[in-house]
Amino acid sequence: MRQKLEIVGAGLAGCCLAWQLRERGVELRLVDDHRPGAASRVAAGLINPVTGKNFQPSWRIAEFLPESVAFFERIGRELGKPLWFPHPVVRLVGEKDWAKVARKLELPAVARWVERVEENIEGWRAAVTLKGGGRVDVRAFCEATEESFGSPTSDFQSGRVVRCGGMFDLVEGRLGEHRCAKGEILTVRMPGGDESRILIGGGGWLVPVGGGLFKAGATYEWDQLDGEPTAAGRARVEEIVRTLGGENFEVVAHEAGVRPIVRRSMPLIGKVGGEVVFNGLGSKGSLYAPGVARRLAEWIVDGTEIESELELGRWMGGLVD
Ligand SMILES: Cc1cc2nc3c(=O)[nH]c(=O)nc-3n(C[C@H](O)[C@H](O)[C@H](O)COP(=O)(O)OP(=O)(O)OC[C@H]3O[C@@H](n4cnc5c(N)ncnc54)[C@H](O)[C@@H]3O)c2cc1C
Repeated sequence: MRQKLEIVGAGLAGCCLAWQLRERGVELRLVDDHRPGAASRVAAGLINPVTGKNFQPSWRIAEFLPESVAFFERIGRELGKPLWFPHPVVRLVGEKDWAKVARKLELPAVARWVERVEENIEGWRAAVTLKGGGRVDVRAFCEATEESFGSPTSDFQSGRVVRCGGMFDLVEGRLGEHRCAKGEILTVRMPGGDESRILIGGGGWLVPVGGGLFKAGATYEWDQLDGEPTAAGRARVEEIVRTLGGENFEVVAHEAGVRPIVRRSMPLIGKVGGEVVFNGLGSKGSLYAPGVARRLAEWIVDGTEIESELELGRWMGGLVD
């Protein structure tokens, strides 16, 4: 008999899981009541192989990146709309950070992502061009997925629920302590802006999204976990735009969402309180959602053991059924 399942939450987590389960023959209902502050509806979808102040390769990037790209290309073909847009990622480095970044460039785990390094460019100590990165059109993916899974018939009876509620589940304390962070993001029009690359520097990023538009972001705020854009957030992101792209821009949208973050920003899957859960995608949902969703689908359908780094039970310290 075919398994039946209800997924609550149609963000990156719920939508990736829905496709992974459909491909394994599970009958599904995917529900979402479209709460303000949902991360996937505002995310830029950026995938950057080497990130942060420490210029560190993302956790298991060599494994999760090809799986994510293949997933979004495959689902894009199925939906008839491109979802993955590869771009070089140019990390602009100031004088203060250069010594640290230069040391990291020598590590094989970093060097494999580096296309080229240019020193003493205007306004910066160096520009490091990284390969393998790009952008996922997250909002288009989630909207098209919800549409593709359609409204289930009213007699759909499911014995099992998978909760993919992002920060809305975390702030209820379902997984214990959390570190969810609100982020504000601008969409700007920049006449003559370079749409061939993603720029990172000055504590933010500028991502081309086509038609002369760019996404710029993002702020981090841990106290006010809502979907309300603020004047202070806008001022901060406008500063990022000026640093990376100059003065010639016009703001066409200002949005906010909350990143679902637990422990050291690692995704979690497994069972708690009788319900299956997929959460904790943090700031890197585009990179991790497809591969983690596959593992959860394999556990649900075939009983394949969840590896311990992702296993909710380990995180909850024995509170699990
Ligand atoms: C400003 C910003 C920029 C970001 N940029 C990037 C980026 O460039 N690259 C990247 O990889 N990641 C980025 N992220 C992070 C990324 O967005 C998240 O990792 C990812 O979207 C989380 O997906 P999710 O499905 O877990 O949560 P969400 O997207 O929040 O989805 C949860 C969904 O569950 C629904 N829901 C909750 N409870 C219920 C209920 N009881 N009934 C029905 N529906 C319910 C909500 O309405 C919501 O749609 C960004 C996040 C923010 C906020």
